[in-house]
Amino acid sequence: MPDMTSHSSPRPKVVIVGGGFAGFQSARSLARQMGDEVDIVLVSPTNYFLYLPLLPEVAAGILEPRRISVALAAALPPCVRHAPGEVDELDLDAQTIGWLDPEGVHHESRWDRLVVAAGSVHKVLPVPGVTQYAQGFRGVPEALYLRDHLIRQVELAAMCEDPEERAARLTTVVVGGGYTGTEVTAQGYLFTKELAASRGLPETPRWVLVSRGEILAGLAGHLSETADRVLRERGVDVRTHEEVEEATGDGVRLSSSGEHVPTRTLLWCVGVRPDPLIDDLGVEVDQGRLVVDTRLRVPGHPNVFACGDAAAVPDRARPGQYTAMTAQHAERQGKLAGRNVAASLRGGRMRTYKHRDLGFVVDLGGFDAAANPLGIRLTGKPAHVVARGYHLMAMPGNRVRTAVDWLMDALLPRQTAQLGLVRSPAVPLDSASPEVPQHGLGFPHRSAPPDQSATSSGRERPGGSAEAASPSADAAGASAEVSGEDPVEESPRSGAR
Ligand SMILES: Cc1cc2nc3c(=O)[nH]c(=O)nc-3n(C[C@H](O)[C@H](O)[C@H](O)COP(=O)(O)OP(=O)(O)OC[C@H]3O[C@@H](n4cnc5c(N)ncnc54)[C@H](O)[C@@H]3O)c2cc1C
Repeated sequence: MPDMTSHSSPRPKVVIVGGGFAGFQSARSLARQMGDEVDIVLVSPTNYFLYLPLLPEVAAGILEPRRISVALAAALPPCVRHAPGEVDELDLDAQTIGWLDPEGVHHESRWDRLVVAAGSVHKVLPVPGVTQYAQGFRGVPEALYLRDHLIRQVELAAMCEDPEERAARLTTVVVGGGYTGTEVTAQGYLFTKELAASRGLPETPRWVLVSRGEILAGLAGHLSETADRVLRERGVDVRTHEEVEEATGDGVRLSSSGEHVPTRTLLWCVGVRPDPLIDDLGVEVDQGRLVVDTRLRVPGHPNVFACGDAAAVPDRARPGQYTAMTAQHAERQGKLAGRNVAASLRGGRMRTYKHRDLGFVVDLGGFDAAANPLGIRLTGKPAHVVARGYHLMAMPGNRVRTAVDWLMDALLPRQTAQLGLVRSPAVPLDSASPEVPQHGLGFPHRSAPPDQSATSSGRERPGGSAEAASPSADAAGASAEVSGEDPVEESPRSGAR
């Protein structure tokens, strides 16, 4: 059990689990406070920070995936070391951690302070057929898969004589009216509309957004109402107070109307649940989130801090409730966790978490957006400008490249080559690691059988192929990504999914 993170120096060691909004900011603020006085190790399966709010633009072909993937080494001070791997063991009493590297080697390490910032994963509800037929949307592999899948469905529809099959291929059902579902619908609808026209299809693709409550229910009324209005005006079939009851090989059944919607594309964006890593820690959790005090410390474990989606942080603005799972909270909590870790090591005074709502932005594609910076209600182009400006400021790197991609998208037609580098078995919905493709080559967990993804033919999703479920086909996709060889084209399954 090598300890790749061990140092012979007597410096205290701080291990941060996760390199998302919270983990990234923890590492950065701790490094700014203490520099080389402390040994900071950030464990994350990816060597980049992923700016999730712009992931829908990757699926829609506006941004290249590397724009929103900011290399940790480029954006963090050099005193922060990145351990590439996924934590699979945490012992809060013994103050040790175990993690698996991308080559399947398990490492163990001790720590003096721990920051748990492992984020969240898809919430898979017990709806028949969903794990089998739906895809999630939390990582780059899923966004790339979705983009290719949408292009493939439009191109197959263009060649299809059967009107029912063509309609099914041109229909996308998105479940969940939160950020993810709303923004991916907004961007995806515009993308497929343009794509269908470019392939000579007379029909406009159909997008159905199914939400148990109102669209963007947790946000201010102005944002929620604007998103709902814009989507409906565009022609999106918005079904609020509706749920998917069952997913089958040829579509989904809605619960209140009992209507069957034929589709080959089911996107599952029904909220998130905290990372499964914290399920077995033996400390208090609230709906899977690690309960912490207002200083972000885990009660009974003064050396353990948690922040972001993985933590249930008391919300002082809403007494009795915990802060929402948003990027804003994760980022600010991460900064505070870094400061408080430094204070705990130096014997200084720790601060408590309080926040002021500076407003939200919701990008709806084209020039449509909604925003309420400092409470000022904006829609249309002004909101669009504010939303893009906000994202550029909030990104820790790649700003110029992102702005250039936006400019190119405004001036040129979108590129619609379908590379097929991410195959359907590489992005299972029920995954604790949506950020890495599941090739069975090390990640995610030691306990997972090495060919788990390859043998999941029953999981095949719309547009995936039986061939793609074989280890060799999957590996072909993976190696093509590295070598630049043409990947094997995914063939449609006969009839349905
Ligand atoms: C498509 C999409 C759009 C969104 N849009 C918005 C928006 O517009 N505004 C907004 O406020 N919020 C938005 N959100 C929510 C926001 O992105 C999250 O609240 C935020 O990312 C939470 O930050 P985090 O650091 O807690 O988790 P994450 O950003 O998810 O980071 C978690 C990190 O932990 C790592 N990790 C997980 N498990 C392990 C492990 N076992 N070992 C090591 N590392 C691990 C992951 O690889 C990742 O690096 C969006 C979310 C999605 C999916």
